Amino acid sequence: MSNLPHEPEFEQAYKELASTLENSSLFEKHPEYKKALKVASIPERIIQFRVTWEDDKGELQVNRGYRVQFNSALGPYKGGLRLHPTVNLSVLKFLGFEQIFKNALTGLNMGGGKGGADFDPKGKSDNEIRRFCCAFMSELGKHIGADIDVPAGDIGVSGREIGWMFGQYKKQTKLWEGILTGKGGNWGGSLIRPEATGYGLVYYVQHMIQYASGGKESFSGKKVAISGSGNVAQYAALKVIELGGTVVSLSDSKGAIVATTDKGIDAEMIESIAKLKVDRKQLSSAADDFGSKVKYIDGARPWLHVGNVDVALPGATQNEVSKEEAEGLIKAGVKFIAEGSNMGCTQEAIEVFESHRKSSKGEAIWYAPGKAANAGGVAVSGLEMAQNSARIKWTSEEVDDRLKLIMKNCFENGLQTAKTYLTPSEGEFPSLVAGSNIAGFSKVAAAMKEQGDWW
Ligand code: NDP
Repeated sequence: MSNLPHEPEFEQAYKELASTLENSSLFEKHPEYKKALKVASIPERIIQFRVTWEDDKGELQVNRGYRVQFNSALGPYKGGLRLHPTVNLSVLKFLGFEQIFKNALTGLNMGGGKGGADFDPKGKSDNEIRRFCCAFMSELGKHIGADIDVPAGDIGVSGREIGWMFGQYKKQTKLWEGILTGKGGNWGGSLIRPEATGYGLVYYVQHMIQYASGGKESFSGKKVAISGSGNVAQYAALKVIELGGTVVSLSDSKGAIVATTDKGIDAEMIESIAKLKVDRKQLSSAADDFGSKVKYIDGARPWLHVGNVDVALPGATQNEVSKEEAEGLIKAGVKFIAEGSNMGCTQEAIEVFESHRKSSKGEAIWYAPGKAANAGGVAVSGLEMAQNSARIKWTSEEVDDRLKLIMKNCFENGLQTAKTYLTPSEGEFPSLVAGSNIAGFSKVAAAMKEQGDWW
């Protein structure tokens, strides 16, 4: 049992997983897996390091850098790098822990890891960010490798930062290796990698909608509330629009925009938001340009301001849906909630959603955890690794088709596993959070046993 009160985010992620395993028949059928959980909850290795870099005034700056190499049973450690002032070991351990089981659900050979630094890209010049990325990689580069650990982007790390880090690695090792994913499309990056998490999230929810409606409904005509306005939120929003849904909100760390017309937030508006986010600007400045098409709510998350919605897709950061917001969304008619962000919902919010999986009156609600619903990003990272190893490049259509298949399998695996280990009652949606946790954990636990990690 994990007991680390000084690591609240990790404790939350651990308890969420452990409680779903304990409340299923998994430990009755496999009592030995309790030992596996104890072993799997401790990272194989944690690397912490100092990052010193020079700002534009020529002055020294220093940050804390980390890489949590959590579990390598299924393949090289794989998981993103986050650059954000809130980064600490608890946050990275929670993200790395989630990543292990998410990667297992993709069906690809990837272990779990996560890293980053408490560096804040906001308010920094492009040159300062480049110098930070090079300084960060000068140490991280000693601990990664195409068959060891392959990081990707996360909050604050886009293709541009990946490029600078990759260049630094190449300078210090002379190796052109697939040591990072999310690379530029014309030098080893996979097509569809930038889109993958957002698109994959929407593909996953499509399966939820189809299953719930017996194949009668789709995104067409659905109102969708989204939070965040970065990589995940932008591409989720664009795919929702492409499939005929209406995006009613987006947000950032300073506030939210809510559409005031039936047309919602359209693709053109999303394109201009994408441009301003590259310049590290806030949504409030976009709201001024959009005029009466949106309402800007300063300092708020969107959930209690969106009116009636069918789908909610948290896509910003952890714990961004509280119990009160979950209850508000239910009152607003939400039927499907799926996390684009990692641990987007608090445990209390998950409990609210999970307690509404059954309904005789047709208003049942279905929640999908990030480790299943947002697995599309790391899945296409896995496809990028495969392309790099084989020195080939697949077309957008090939990658997108594989992504669709992986998300379908991810959904069906969670669904079937929930039916096997929890036997839902008549009219109840199977718990996707429990099913996904059990499916991911069992696969990793079995591989760890075969490799002698526990016995
Ligand atoms: P980006 O940096 O592109 O965007 C993050 C968005 O979230 C921005 O709108 C940002 O606002 C907002 N945000 C960040 N921190 C906070 C905070 N503390 N409070 C409120 N809003 C915040 O990141 P991504 O889109 O890549 O990642 C979003 C989420 O998706 C994260 O949880 C990430 O772990 C998860 N994820 C990402 C994957 C990927 O492939 N990128 C894969 C799987 C999961 P602002 O612009 O003001 O900073």
